[in-house]
Amino acid sequence: LIGEASDELGVDSYVIGGFVRDYFLKRNTPKDIDIVAIGSGIELAKKVASKLKGKPEISVFKNFGTAMIKHKDLELEFVGARKESYNRDSRKPIVEDGTLEDDQNRRDFTINAMALTLNQENFGKLLDPFGGLADLDKEIIRTPLEPGITYSDDPLRMMRAIRFATQLHFTIELQSLQAITENKDRIKIVSKERIVDELHKILMSSKPSVGFKLMHQTELLPLILPELTALQGIEEKEGQRHKDNFWHTLEVVDNIAKTTDNLWLRWAALLHDIGKAPTKKFHKKIGWTFHAHEFVGSKMVYKLFKRLRMPLNEKMKFVQKMVLMSSRPIILSEDHVTDSAVRRLVFDAGDAVEDLMTLCEADITTKNPRKQKKYKNN
Ligand code: ATP
Repeated sequence: LIGEASDELGVDSYVIGGFVRDYFLKRNTPKDIDIVAIGSGIELAKKVASKLKGKPEISVFKNFGTAMIKHKDLELEFVGARKESYNRDSRKPIVEDGTLEDDQNRRDFTINAMALTLNQENFGKLLDPFGGLADLDKEIIRTPLEPGITYSDDPLRMMRAIRFATQLHFTIELQSLQAITENKDRIKIVSKERIVDELHKILMSSKPSVGFKLMHQTELLPLILPELTALQGIEEKEGQRHKDNFWHTLEVVDNIAKTTDNLWLRWAALLHDIGKAPTKKFHKKIGWTFHAHEFVGSKMVYKLFKRLRMPLNEKMKFVQKMVLMSSRPIILSEDHVTDSAVRRLVFDAGDAVEDLMTLCEADITTKNPRKQKKYKNN
């Protein structure tokens, strides 16, 4: 139908980006479909809407030259092909009309730059100038243009590369990894909201540790979540060592990803030990301790959410509560927990108790079956 509308208007049109990638990957067909017209995307959208049964909702964004049709559970986004150039201080490109090649050149990754023709004569013909299909096969994330330029132009792409690598279990090619490391400081021009969107997607993938390891490797992590980086390392004093809480945290996050799809519980897993860096102490008699790290950690959650401009609402309170209680239910029996506010919190938890149990089970990284049983029973 879109091909028919395009033919009637005498414009060429293509489906491009995520839809094409996921179609070849046989992934769940995405609900949002991007359509590029060589000409006016808005005119094409209007023509398509007039041909669709029922009266589909159409939203026109004149300033952006785009239009969106909501049809059943699909969102069809129409845009005219464009050429982009960038200013050093902003992610916002200078946009002008362009050809399909210009439009493919502005895409972030080869696997996201493939287009399928919609016009009836060549319906379904693949236009893949950068070898995106071969990269899907090789399972690599590669940029169409020189990676240094791609990431410097729009540094959000650094987070997108890591997110796609995590979601698709792909490898980021070496030149890209190096370019991300070189351009890491440019992440500062990306809005916190966009960074958080990518963090949510990494956390919601089946093995979130992949993304956090890549952020660590490319040195983006200390710029975004310095509290996590601070957990890395093992100190030894008088022959006593403590565990590396950074790698431990990543294990816990992967464990929890196996048991729950609750995004906020996954955040809680990621942050459950963040109070350990500032509370670490060595006592001659008892060795390494992280006394009261849960309290310190739950306060750090507040600051971290605020810094990332994440909503300071019930979800944040839930994460705080989970972090506060994350030292397993043992907290209930520990003598030093006399603080009445904490007791109230524990007994107030209600529904949260089940989530807490999930978090605790995710934290049982001991291989010792006797200890495992003890933790579970507690
Ligand atoms: P998902 O829906 O899983 O996020 P997607 O590929 O559809 O995947 P979108 O953010 O919807 O992601 O973007 C649609 C397409 O727009 C991408 O496939 C890519 O071609 C292009 N794109 C999106 N963001 C950028 C960017 N920052 N730089 C270059 N191209 C981008």
